[in-house]
Formats: sequence, C-alpha cells, structure tokens
Amino acid sequence: MDAGRKRELEEKVYAGERLSRQDGEDLYDSDDLAWLGRLAHHRRTETNGDRVMFNVNRHLNLTNVCSASCAYCSFQRKPGEKDAYTMRIEEAVRKAKEMQDEQLTELHIVNGLHPTLPWRYYPKVLRELKAALPTVKLKAFTATEVQWFEKISGLPADEILDELIDAGLESLTGGGAEIFDWEVRQHIVDHACHWEDWSRIHRLAHSKGLKTPSTMLYGHIEEPRHRVDHVLRLRELQDETGGFTVFIPLRYQHDFVDSADGKIRNRIQAKTTMASPAESLKTFAVSRLLFDNVPHVKCFWVMHGLSVAQLSLNFGVDDLDGSVVEYKITHDADSYGTPNTMHREDLLNLIWDAGFQPVERDTRYNVVREYDVPPTLAQRRAEPQQVWA
Ligand code: SF4
Repeated sequence: MDAGRKRELEEKVYAGERLSRQDGEDLYDSDDLAWLGRLAHHRRTETNGDRVMFNVNRHLNLTNVCSASCAYCSFQRKPGEKDAYTMRIEEAVRKAKEMQDEQLTELHIVNGLHPTLPWRYYPKVLRELKAALPTVKLKAFTATEVQWFEKISGLPADEILDELIDAGLESLTGGGAEIFDWEVRQHIVDHACHWEDWSRIHRLAHSKGLKTPSTMLYGHIEEPRHRVDHVLRLRELQDETGGFTVFIPLRYQHDFVDSADGKIRNRIQAKTTMASPAESLKTFAVSRLLFDNVPHVKCFWVMHGLSVAQLSLNFGVDDLDGSVVEYKITHDADSYGTPNTMHREDLLNLIWDAGFQPVERDTRYNVVREYDVPPTLAQRRAEPQQVWA
C-alpha cells in the first residue's frame, strides 16, 4: 500500500468515519502489522478504554451426534461411533452443578444436530438447568440449531424462541456463521442454515430483546475479501437491530486426533494450513476497524494460545472468553499445549500482564466487578507461580 492510501485510511479512522468494503480489503493487503495494530488500538481505546472484559463460564455440549458433516468439523460423530455421546438431562445438570463453587455466571451450550432427539428435550434441559442453577445465565444454541428445531418440531422459529426464552434462554450463541459468502460456504458447510436463515433467526432473537454474539470462522479456504464481506453483512444487520454485543473471529483448527478411533474428520485438512498468529492479529484489527457499531471484539484464547491472546488486546480485542473447565469442540482440535482450564485468577493475571484493566461481565455485558488495582509485582512474585501446561 502506498503512503498516500495509508494516510487516507488513517484520516478516516481518526475522524471516526465508517470504512468501506474497499478500505477493508486494502487494510488486509497491508503487511504493516504494527500500523494496523495502532489504528485498531485507537478505535478499541476510544470505545472501551483500557478495559478487558471476561466472564466466568462453562461450555456444555449436550451431544456430539450430528446429522450434518461440515468439512472442517472434528467434533461431530455419527450414531454408533465409538465416542459418540448424548447426555441425559440429569447428567447435564450434574455436570453444570459441579461448577457451582467457581461462581459461575454463564453456561454456553452448543450441540450437534441430533437426528432423533425430540424438540421437547431442549427446553426441558434449559428448565432443569435453570432450576438447578438459578443465578447462571443460559447462552445456548446456534442459529443452525434453532433452524434444526424448526425442522424437527414443525414449529416456526418465533414459537421456538418464545419457548426457549420461557425456559430460561438468555442469549443465542454466535456459531453457525462460518463464512457467509456462498462461493466459500458451499465447500465447508453441510447443514442447511446459511446467511438468509442465520440472519433471520438473529433478527428475530433481537426483536424479542435477546442480545447475541456474532462469529466468523477464518483461515481455511476463504480469502480476505470474504472476511470483509462477512463483517459488512453483520454490520448492516447491526445497523438494523443493534442486537449484537460482540464479534468473535474464530480461528479454523486442524484436527489433531485425540478421538477414540484416531480418525481425522476434517476433510479440508490436506489442502489448508491454519492462520498464523500474524494473520489472526490482522483479522482482529481489520474487524475492529470495520465494525463501528458492535461494541466488543473477542479473542477465544483456547484457539490462539495465551501469548497471542495477550497480544490481541493491542489489536482491537477487548474481551477474552472466560473460565473454561471443559470445552470439547475446540479441545478436540488443539495440540499447542494451550490449557483447556482457566479460572478467574488466571485471567486476571493474564490481563494485568498485558497492561490492561480486567472487568468481569455477565452474558449481556453488564459489569459484574471491576478489578482496577492490580497487585504489585512484589506481591505477585511472592505467590506460587502458575504453570500453564
Ligand atoms: S459444525 Fe455443527 S452442524 Fe456442522 S458437522 Fe459440526 S456439529 Fe454438525
């Protein structure tokens, strides 16, 4: 990128102007990572200061049995496969209750599209979880799952969402978005929920007062222009509804085979690499710059490792996914020694080490607690040191 174009983009960012599709593509073209970081950090600081939000949550996957076979997915199993599982409701409640002493504030629940579980199972699980953990917010189901519930129940999403909300649903999850552009999507997605249905279901959720996250799976067979297109579709929907709280770029993962049968399920693995840390930082930065109407950008540290997660805070990110005791979908595809367990203290130290102020939030991004006085280095050295691996 020449100096003139760089100056033009800087001026737009510092004037708070909305960036165009061409601006987004040009930003991805730049190799000047430090410059991109500076611009994104400016925008992030204007919106969120030096705060980094996190929440204490637990991920629960009720079943890994799925009717679809998305090309990149290492999580799904077919009925009868060795490590296929489906939780009974009591089992899900027991697992969730194990976290009570962690001052859990949120359960994040996503699942395969189970071919025979009846629709009634899902609101019943939510009701029982809510009864067992009344203070815990339930963030559950992707738009893809809601569309699946339409198919298995014969009910419209409108009634499905009403029933789930009545059962305790606080927010949908942001999954199922992958990359919306059909040119790419048709090669990686096997379920039937594409942009039209994904946006319809989130629009409906927003109209009922739910706030939802949005995501993008990047670093596989897509090009930067597809990422820009993805973000601009979400930005336009956000102009209409204002219901998205956060944007989460999810780093595509290879399947590192820790399944019981040793099978690699990722069918695009042979022709893909995973996004490098530099590419991830660039994706965080450009997303932050394009999204002038979504307040937060999140880094899900399990997918990046802790050092990149810390660096991402200087590239537009102001939200780290919280304390995870068990997370099957990603951990199946991770072999970088990234821990799959972090607790409140771990996250606080991670954020302070990066030079930011931690703020614990709930599912709707209300502040639960501010932590604005970090312990001194001497106090921290006096404590037993963390060993991550
Ligand atoms: S990504 Fe979701 S819908 Fe697709 S195969 Fe995996 S579990 Fe099923």
